[in-house]
Order: sequence, then structure tokens, then C-alpha cells
Amino acid sequence: MFVDTHCHLQFKDYDSDLEAVLSRAVQDSVGTFLCVGVDVATSRLANALAQKHPFIYSSVGLHPHEAKEFNESVFHELREIIKLTKVVAIGEIGLDYYRNLSPAEDQKKCFVRMLDLAQEFRHPILLHIREAYPDVLALLRTHCTLPIRGVNHCFSGSVKELKEILDLGLFVSFSGNVTYPKSEAIREAAKECPLDRMLIETDAPYLSPQAFRGKRNEPAFLRQTAAFIAALKGISLEEVETKTTENAFSLFPMSRVGEEQLVYPIGDALYVNVTNACSARCTFCELSKSDSELYLKGYRLKMKRDPSVDDVLKALDSTSSYREVVFCGYGEPTLRIKFLVELSKALKARGLRTRLNTNGHGNLIHKRSIVPELAGLIDEVSVSLNAEDDAKYNAVVRPHFGVGTYEKVKAFVLECKKTLPKVVVTFVEVPEIDIEACEKVARGLGVEARFRKLDVVG
Ligand code: SF4
Ligand SMILES: [Zn+2]
Ligand SMILES: [Zn+2]
Repeated sequence: MFVDTHCHLQFKDYDSDLEAVLSRAVQDSVGTFLCVGVDVATSRLANALAQKHPFIYSSVGLHPHEAKEFNESVFHELREIIKLTKVVAIGEIGLDYYRNLSPAEDQKKCFVRMLDLAQEFRHPILLHIREAYPDVLALLRTHCTLPIRGVNHCFSGSVKELKEILDLGLFVSFSGNVTYPKSEAIREAAKECPLDRMLIETDAPYLSPQAFRGKRNEPAFLRQTAAFIAALKGISLEEVETKTTENAFSLFPMSRVGEEQLVYPIGDALYVNVTNACSARCTFCELSKSDSELYLKGYRLKMKRDPSVDDVLKALDSTSSYREVVFCGYGEPTLRIKFLVELSKALKARGLRTRLNTNGHGNLIHKRSIVPELAGLIDEVSVSLNAEDDAKYNAVVRPHFGVGTYEKVKAFVLECKKTLPKVVVTFVEVPEIDIEACEKVARGLGVEARFRKLDVVG
């Protein structure tokens, strides 16, 4: 199945026949869609579609054409939409000096603020660049502190610009305009672009491939662009399909329809979705809602079965670029202590760093101290405390073990501190808790405190 990595199915163009458009797409092997926002309204509508259809994901962006409308209130509205589940990218953003519908200075200001959002939420970016490569590249290089992940959508530059984009580690996406008679330069770039850095898109309703030029574009036409690229590169259509689909799922935090998300990558870490069972029912956690699909970004973390050691090792074998493996998900990992120990031994043998995110109930769950079993296997443990005292802990975390659990969790932290290289305590910033008092508790335990905004993950 193909992924249409850039379309605007939320636009009015599809108001009357979206269901038919989607079923034609599926018939033509397009099974996943990234619906891209260009302003506040279209970012919101794109996410509404994503909430309705399991195979649609959305992005949040302010197009350079709209940059003159940018102000701090627009920024905050966009920031709120980013927190919604199934938002998997920031875009489209960038600079367009070809149509210049907003003054260049406004475009740059807006672009930089949108990059801030991408960095804050660790989302990949969808870049729209027209006749503006020097400025876009300079801003990316000077403004981004974290590694830049994303795609130059609807590539329409030269081979030289292609190389600069690839050097930054970005993907390059080709759309229907690669098929136009006058697009010789784009075809040269498509030939040069390595398949393992290539994505494909329709940019529907725009840029229909040559055979449908002048008509409304739709995701079903993606196959035409893919076949054209296959012929151009002298490879099979299946190869273009497999590789570009793999690339899309490696860049965007999305789940394949019908597949269990036993592990999920974020940045250079592989996260293991250890179990959906938990010994708490935190008020802010999706796990407390029985009908939730447990989305984290666009990853659907609800599982019918727990992963095995082999499942995780297989996922690691498919790519060698992970630095760290994190035991974390919707559920309490220490419920599966044997799995944790066995897997960590295999990970240590491969020289990988390990991190455990836990609610600190492990000793209570197993009625013994589990900390000696983790020694030499877990490099960092992050224990969620989430409150400054037992009463608040019971109100917010609602632990299975009831009154007195908070003190036991603190004792667990102190035990870990004696045995494991790094221990931190975390707090989700819910209104009920007193941040200063929480900091004081962490100081008392002699460990670092980390605070997490309720909706910011990764
Ligand atoms: S401990 Fe973690 S997984 Fe369990 S309910 Fe709380 S936040 Fe959710
Ligand atoms: Zn664009
Ligand atoms: Zn677009």
C-alpha cells in the first residue's frame, strides 16, 4: 500500500464526495493519508478527519502564503491543535518567493516560530520551498538545535538544491508535477534522489499528474506518479511502493492500519510498548478510558497481545540506528519483570543503553524488591511521582495499592539510587499539584526532577 504523504482532503473540494475519493484511493492501493494544514482552520479540519478515520493522520501548519496573518494568538491556537492525537508533523511551513503572497520578512518570522513548535513537540517538518532555498537552508541551520527531521514536499528545485536538502538529513517528496513536459529539472532530481530518502505525495487537490491535468487531483492518482518515477529510475513499481511506504512510516509517528504497535521509534530511541496493564488509574491518562485507542502522537498503542523478546529484537534488526531502548507505553512495564530482565540482557549484549519509565510500584506488585534484578541492566530509571504528598498522589494517580503507596514509591526511588546509574522523578503538570513542593520532594530524595506538560510527549 502507498502512503499519500501530503494531501488536503479537508478542503472544500471534497465536501460532496470524500467517501468516494477515499474508496477509489484504497482500490488503487493508497491506504494511509497525511492531511496537511495550511492555517488554523485547515489544521483543525485535517485533525477532525484524522479523528474520524483510522488511516488518516494530520499536520498543523501555517503556509508561507498566510504568513502575513501570523501573530501570537495564531501561534497559540496552532500550538493547542498540535497537542491533539494523530497530529504527526508541523507543516506546511517554509518560504515562497515565487508567488510572494506575504512579505518575505513576515514569511521568515512565521517560519522560525513554526520551527520552534516543531522542536518543542519533536515533530518532523513539512517544508514548502519555492525559489527560497538559500534562506530556508540558512534558517534551518542557524535556528534548529535538535536534529532536523522532515521532508521537502513537492520538490521543485535543482539537483544542487536536492543535495543540500539531503545533506541536512531531510527526505524529498515528489508529486504529480514530475510528470509535466516542462519539468525536466524535477525529473533530473528524481533520478538523482536515492530511493531510501524519497517520499511521494499528490498535494491533492492541486498538481494532478499529466493524464488528469486541469482536473481536481485525488489520492488515487498517486499510483501514476509512482509508476512514472519507477520508469524514470528503471526500477519496479513495487520497489517504489515498498520503499516510499517504509520511509513514510519511519519519518512520521504513525501506525499501519491493522498492525499492532509493539514498539515505536521516537528520535534515536526505540520505545517498547511493554503492556497495557497498569497498577494505577491516573486521572490524566488515556488508559482510564475504556474505549480509548491509546494514541501517542500518531502511534496506536492499544495491543491485543504483549510483545515478546523476539518481537523487539526483530524490530532492532531492521535498523541499526537506535542509541537507546526505552520501556514505556500505556501500562506499567514492571508488571512484566521477567520480560524486562531477559530483554535487557539481550540489549546490553548489543551495547544499547536502556531506560525504564515506571510508576514505581514494582516492589508492591511482586511483593519483593525487584531492584537487584535491574542492576547492571537498566541505565536510567524514571519514576513518576506526580504529586507532593500521599493525599494528592491518591487523588491523581489512584494506585491499586491505596493509601501509603506514595511512601513506598519514594522508598523505591531511594533503592534505585543506590543500585542504578541514573534515577529521575517525573511529574505531569496537572493543576492539582504544587510544583515547588514537588521540587522539594525531589531534592529531599537527592534526584533530578522532570516536569512534563500534560500533552507534550516524546
Ligand atoms: S501509571 Fe502511567 S500508564 Fe499507568 S495510569 Fe498512570 S500514566 Fe497511565
Ligand atoms: Zn506546498
Ligand atoms: Zn500542500
